[in-house]
Amino acid sequence: MKIIVRPNNIFGRVGCALCGESFEAGEVLAWACDDDADGGMESFGYVCMDCIAAGEAGIKQRVKEWANRVQAEATKAAKFADEVAAERIEVPSAAAVKIELDRFHVHRWGMTREQWEAENPTVSALGDELPF
Ligand SMILES: [Zn+2]
Repeated sequence: MKIIVRPNNIFGRVGCALCGESFEAGEVLAWACDDDADGGMESFGYVCMDCIAAGEAGIKQRVKEWANRVQAEATKAAKFADEVAAERIEVPSAAAVKIELDRFHVHRWGMTREQWEAENPTVSALGDELPF
């Protein structure tokens, strides 16, 4: 692997291919590259300046720490998935979500009953519940 630094034309937050951290792309951006089949270099991601500052040994440590974090998260997610699989889940209906949205519009933006009825000509589809 080789890390190269080039003038940057990518702005905004990007993820580091070596440590997994999100960082703001600066005026220069580092790229992690491997040799490609044609003897050139092929980039496989951006590199943050903390990794650059860490040097070769520090980068190896940061990659390992990222792998450990991801592994811990995967273990936690798998445990949660097992717990969820064993539970009943009560899910609100689309109508229940809609009535909460309408309540928000009524109370936050002062939507009148006339405006609401104009947007909801099939009130019976929502049952008897109204957002007022
Ligand atoms: Zn990094």
